[in-house]
Amino acid sequence: FLRAAASSRRPDRSDTPMPSRSLRVAVIGAGAAGLVAARELRREGHAPVVFERTDGVGGTWVYEADADASASPEPLVTQRRSNLDASLRTNLPRECMGFLDFPFVAGPDGDTRRFPGHAEVLRYLQSFARRFDLDGLVRLETEVVRVSRETSGTSWRVRYSRKASGSEKRETDEEVFDAVVICNGHYSQPHFADVAGVDAWPGKQLHSTSYRVPEPFHGQVVVVIGCGPSGTDISRDIAGVAKEVHLASRWSLSATSEKLPGHANMWFHSEIDRAQEDGSVVFHDGSRVKADVIMHCTGYKYNFPFLTNDATVSVDDNCVDPLYKHVFPPQVAPRLSFIGLPLKVVPFPLFELQSHWVAGVLSGRFKLPSKDEMVRDVTAFHSRLAARGWPRRYTHRLRDREFENEDWLAEQCRRGGPEGWRREMFDAAMQVMVERPENYRDEWDGGDYDHLLAQANRDFAAHCQ
Ligand code: FAD
Repeated sequence: FLRAAASSRRPDRSDTPMPSRSLRVAVIGAGAAGLVAARELRREGHAPVVFERTDGVGGTWVYEADADASASPEPLVTQRRSNLDASLRTNLPRECMGFLDFPFVAGPDGDTRRFPGHAEVLRYLQSFARRFDLDGLVRLETEVVRVSRETSGTSWRVRYSRKASGSEKRETDEEVFDAVVICNGHYSQPHFADVAGVDAWPGKQLHSTSYRVPEPFHGQVVVVIGCGPSGTDISRDIAGVAKEVHLASRWSLSATSEKLPGHANMWFHSEIDRAQEDGSVVFHDGSRVKADVIMHCTGYKYNFPFLTNDATVSVDDNCVDPLYKHVFPPQVAPRLSFIGLPLKVVPFPLFELQSHWVAGVLSGRFKLPSKDEMVRDVTAFHSRLAARGWPRRYTHRLRDREFENEDWLAEQCRRGGPEGWRREMFDAAMQVMVERPENYRDEWDGGDYDHLLAQANRDFAAHCQ
């Protein structure tokens, strides 16, 4: 039945009334966000054109085996699309992760695991593009290099660079669009932790974005900074071949370093205090190790190199501001929007709801508040975060507020939001990831979540009728 669900030809939403305004819209990026944005825009009656700088759709989920693990950090800053390691599996159960109306279920030939490998996610996105006939909307190997506002104030000039036909040379061209939807992802510009003394430290520094396989770390002493999903997975991967792995985290509750239970060669420390010329790395807890490598699993920075000041937003301390509900810059809304900025979320359903909202606002079916009201809302939002002591760089981290945000979006779109089972599954996944990072993916099918899976399957069947 699940296979049938995956391949069924469900008609597009039929209850969508004719839009009052049909626009030509540039979508930047053909990852999960760009694909679902294109689908929602077209469903709403717009004419989207998707620009994708690489040679295929799928964004992050296109694995690139050739990351140079010996490279210094700098060359990795640009043009890297994928940052997946070879063994990466999803950190969410597939049922929970998929788009709301296109179930991510196991097919006959793929990776049938509940937490599948990266290739299965790419297959899913490619089949999403096929199912909704999106490939024809995507201009591959075409990079947007500049987005500027026309003097009319209502349209945008998009300059792009692409390979000239029959030659390796690149040529640039420009087109004017009624609106631009930015879906360029935020996992390509690495953020490196500031480590005092690191310039004189003789070891090698890398960012998780360049990590692919553990072999280059054979016999080495590796310090991994950061205990998020990447730090957790990569440190354990490396521990299989390295001499020692030392995890440094600002979230360490212990005043001293600790050996990680179940591992002969892994230790958990507080933050790094400094690195020294003699090769040692000193932690706040007073412990020190002579290390060969520091691996920064410290996240990424938002980056929109193609945006001019006309966009009226800037990135400061990794906060994209001002943005109404993480999507619209009030001064130029709704003709410019961002899909996919929030972190610590279930990404695909969020992208879908944000895209639906943007498409409906552009057509005039959904209303935005006035510019002043949006600005006031953004200001009040930042004040609330500041009052809670929330650093500005965490502005787009939703976590506990994720479903509140999605319910709000769903209400704007007059549709249902994420299902109850999806929320419970997400919470459960987050909990087991922390409690049993080694094996939560393979122990999930132990019966504890059968009722959630059964509910998911019932909903998928209903979707696909
Ligand atoms: P991307 O996938 O990054 O796509 C952006 C696209 O825009 C790219 O194709 C890029 O080439 C293109 N682009 C950028 N700039 C330009 C330009 N100027 N012109 C034209 N094209 C451009 N999510 C989950 O749901 N489950 C997981 O288990 C999970 N694991 C993850 C593990 C890792 C290591 C990482 C980094 C992320 C993970 N995520 C996971 C989050 C994942 O990034 C999202 O699921 C989602 O794929 C992001 O989609 P996106 O479209 O926003 O960005």
